[in-house]
Amino acid sequence: MEQRRVRVLPEQIANKIAAGEVVQRPESVVKELLENSLDAESRSLSVVVKEGGTNLVQVSDDGAGMDEEDAVNAFGRHATSKIVSYEDLEAIRTFGFRGEALASIAAVARVTMKTRRRELDEAVIVKTEGGGKLSVSRGAREPGTTVTVQNLFFNVPARRKFLKSPTTEFRHVYDAVHRIAISYPEIALEFVSDGDQIFKLAPAPLPQRLLDVFGERQLSALIPVEERSDLLTVTGYISKPSFGHRSRSHQYLFLNRRFIGNRTINHAVFSAYENLLEKGTFPFFLLFLEIDPHRVDINIHPSKLEAKFDDEQGVYRFIAALVRKSLTSSDFFPSLGMTGSPGGPGETGLRFTPAQHEWPGGGQTAWTFPERDKVDPVTGEIVRLQPPDGTTTASQLLRGGIEEMFRAPQQERATPPPAGAPLWQLHNKYIMAAVESGVMIIDQHVAHERILYERALRRFAAEARSSQQLLFPKTVELSAADYSLVEELQRDLEGLGFDLKLFGRNTVVVEGVPTDVRVGDEERILEEVLTLYKEYRRDAPTNVRDNLAKSYSCRSAVKAGDPLTEQEMRALLDDLFVTRMPYVCPHGRPIVLRISIEEMDRRFGRL
Ligand code: ADP
Ligand code: MG
Repeated sequence: MEQRRVRVLPEQIANKIAAGEVVQRPESVVKELLENSLDAESRSLSVVVKEGGTNLVQVSDDGAGMDEEDAVNAFGRHATSKIVSYEDLEAIRTFGFRGEALASIAAVARVTMKTRRRELDEAVIVKTEGGGKLSVSRGAREPGTTVTVQNLFFNVPARRKFLKSPTTEFRHVYDAVHRIAISYPEIALEFVSDGDQIFKLAPAPLPQRLLDVFGERQLSALIPVEERSDLLTVTGYISKPSFGHRSRSHQYLFLNRRFIGNRTINHAVFSAYENLLEKGTFPFFLLFLEIDPHRVDINIHPSKLEAKFDDEQGVYRFIAALVRKSLTSSDFFPSLGMTGSPGGPGETGLRFTPAQHEWPGGGQTAWTFPERDKVDPVTGEIVRLQPPDGTTTASQLLRGGIEEMFRAPQQERATPPPAGAPLWQLHNKYIMAAVESGVMIIDQHVAHERILYERALRRFAAEARSSQQLLFPKTVELSAADYSLVEELQRDLEGLGFDLKLFGRNTVVVEGVPTDVRVGDEERILEEVLTLYKEYRRDAPTNVRDNLAKSYSCRSAVKAGDPLTEQEMRALLDDLFVTRMPYVCPHGRPIVLRISIEEMDRRFGRL
């Protein structure tokens, strides 16, 4: 075989190869250009795309701009103004630092950059195609920069072929612009696609911006969260459990205002929702993490979409605890309202409605640029709005807005019915309690299930057994499969409070049961717990204890049809309202309903 010499690749080829990492699709171009504009301290950005960005991406800003030397150098490989030394990397505060984006984009598209520094009179225009020679000319422009990227991958047919339809590419581009809209509410942002204005957002406090981009319905389903420690600040919103989404696409995680994906944190949020969500649904969350840049490494992914924390476990615990706390302390339990569409298909006329928050200046803000600030659809240029007033952190923005936005009409807290309040049992199924604001209806089975479920989890966690010994141990014959399941689960079953002796030949002697199991029910409950456990295991094979806690709580709880004495009802309610989640059962069904006096008055025509 002919010997191949080792040689250094020409820059043009090297850039084309690097582009493979940095530029996946039009979305990456949009993201990199927007980030450059933000790094240049722009206050107003415009994004124009055609055919989902496959034909054209143009980002214009009113930022610092570049002089000719910088404008030319910016296209060089590893050309950056953002770090000087390796040490700078340790505390990076800008989006960019790798100096790869412009070189990579230019290697695989036709690029024009028009830029003007504020203190210079003239703009510089730099053109390049497929990473070839730069041509430089002069022109006029407001201070700032416009980068136009045409015919992405025109010279890399293999990659051009892999682009999806313009609609799909548009969706990705939209997501990228959307994320910037969320994390930079103080920046004016306009987005135009194929000549249509998709949105045009005025600088606004975060809650107003969120209202603009998500709409009122979504926003009213959110709970604000906020927590800070010496190392980490987390602010943002999470959805009420009743507002799960069918897909995971409503998860926004920003680290020092940079959108990132992080499985650990996503998992921390999920784990906090545990069983509050309906199967197959995911929470909406929007979390801004602020952390000392020294304690996090953003340089582990070519597009910086991932980050590595010094103390990932610590961050996990912090976020899980925060979300859990916020869910517990928030009044999200459903109340009956008339705002639904009574009589709609499959509806009884009553409907769960979330608590409505009032938004000052509510509705969509139809913000427009002042008359003189026309947007040129080709250059997309818009003039600068407010001069920069120093950097604003997400939490400052939140602080400014949240209280105001959430100064909702005083919501009645879901407190337990006062001691001595009259209680009724309805159809041996529901407990009705008079409360100050009206009436509360509690589903006795799911309420008890919640109590037992949390108790079971506590027992596992504390490894403290709480078992009642049977006067007359019960001998139970199981199927071979159940017997081996008991063998497998013995430790955890004992953790719950079962005291079991395995006698071989599929025979188990039950010597003790958890304190909540009713006398006489021991055998049935053990068998039913095993049966249900097998069902849950199919869905979540790894959550042994959780599945067991769910099976146990479901099978040992009082059932619909069980008559309860007043004392039992009272005990049930007392126990319910000290659980962490009194409003939703471990499977996501509601436990408590409330009908207010106003609601009744309305229905009786008194209002
Ligand atoms: P990086 O952002 O990692 O530094 P880029 O290739 O994205 O690398 O950009 C190279 C350099 O070009 C930047 O460091 C910056 O100095 C300059 N630059 C790019 N875009 C702009 C812009 N919109 N406004 C001002 N300067 C810019
Ligand atoms: Mg950059």
